[in-house]
Amino acid sequence: MADIWSDALQGLQPRLGAQTYDLWLRPIALRQVAGTRLHLTAPNRFMKEWFENHYLGAVLDELKARTAQSYDVEIEVDASETRPAEPTPTKPAAPAILPSRSLEPQLPPQLSGRYRFQNFIQGAANELAASAAWAAAQEPGTRFNPLFIYGGVGLGKTHLLHAIGHHIHATRPDQRIVYQSAERFMNEFIAAVRQNQFDAFRTRYREHCDVLLIDDIQFIAGRDRTMDEFFHVFNALYEAEKQIVVTSDRMPSEMQGMEDRLISRLNWGLVADVKLPDLETRVAILRQKAEVDRIQIDDDVTLHLANIVRSNVRELEGSLVRVSTFAALRRVPISLDFVTEVLGAPAPTAQPPPISIESVQKVVAGHFSVRVADLKGPRRHQGISRPRMIAMYLSRQLTGASFPEIGLRFGGKDHSTVINACKRIASIATDDGELRATVDTLRRQLTTDTTHAPSLLS
Ligand code: ADP
Ligand code: MG
Repeated sequence: MADIWSDALQGLQPRLGAQTYDLWLRPIALRQVAGTRLHLTAPNRFMKEWFENHYLGAVLDELKARTAQSYDVEIEVDASETRPAEPTPTKPAAPAILPSRSLEPQLPPQLSGRYRFQNFIQGAANELAASAAWAAAQEPGTRFNPLFIYGGVGLGKTHLLHAIGHHIHATRPDQRIVYQSAERFMNEFIAAVRQNQFDAFRTRYREHCDVLLIDDIQFIAGRDRTMDEFFHVFNALYEAEKQIVVTSDRMPSEMQGMEDRLISRLNWGLVADVKLPDLETRVAILRQKAEVDRIQIDDDVTLHLANIVRSNVRELEGSLVRVSTFAALRRVPISLDFVTEVLGAPAPTAQPPPISIESVQKVVAGHFSVRVADLKGPRRHQGISRPRMIAMYLSRQLTGASFPEIGLRFGGKDHSTVINACKRIASIATDDGELRATVDTLRRQLTTDTTHAPSLLS
């Protein structure tokens, strides 16, 4: 049976892509079969849930196709894998060499105690980033290396980076964690060069480092010498299988002025984005914040706040703090009217209703007379792959969805497939007027279909 199981997983590999297979399927192990019930284990809760939500159906279908038998499953989290694998280091033979330092590496002082996995609220907008961060924290330096987290300001990138640091420090106290903003990395580098202390700098980043966490890497774009140094740090750590996690305000290929060889390395591992959480997630974040700060606030007021603050999570939290501070000063409860008084009335939504990936698929399938199922399926001949690439391209342009999300909605394809599709269409369209016209027509159809009132800006 174990063979059938791994055959089935492998059978799905061409359809889901090698990366998806490696990240999400391979770690799921078959432990036991009882009749038609399969007992599986996953390395952690996130991987378990991710697998259940995204791939379990496909795996069961594949099994059924292969064995003509329906199975059900039970997935357990394998606790043995969440324990640190390495023994704690033994004392050095000559402690006199290290007089005042304690033996175990210290938690980097920059890590804020407020940013932990326990208080990071997950939703569709940050799920991939959060589960990848969790997995990297559980098994540093193995499958999610490097991990690149990108997204707009105030959406939780720094929070996840700190959370990884805390978790690794707590579970593997022997690991030397280096956390730095890219800006500080650059300043330290320049100072080291000026003061002739480059060796110390190199030792700190290339040798005395088991986990490197770099925040806001976009900062070093265009700074040639710093990029060059980071490139060497990256190579040294990567070769030694040390975990590298990097955040940025945009995806690797969109960082203007970043060296190509660095961009390519940052793309080697997993690239995950964070977006603005949906309404339910924003409500959950507010509830948590209110609880931690002991702010009394009713559910309808929380919902109202979550509805009017749509810029980012930092603003969302900030507005709760502002409202509660004013309320405390005036000694009044936080009511709907009070919120409106403090924050102003919610801006009228001038934006057209959002376009969904489903509507893009429908319109594109209709235009080319193919089925939506074909767009989501694996078939590769041009009559289908061209419309599929166009649908992916328009999904990216019009819906604001991330590459991984688009991949999932196109039958669980890997995000790199989506990135390639977008690049292909953009490049073909530069000299193929016909394609350009088709894409324009489809775009117009999608944007006017869903816009009820004409926008004053267009
Ligand atoms: P970024 O680095 O992306 O600019 P931060 O990580 O600094 O954003 O997040 C801004 C604030 O929002 C922090 O206080 C952080 O704790 C909070 N925050 C962001 N996302 C979440 C989330 N999903 N759950 C809980 N708090 C969040
Ligand atoms: Mg940040």
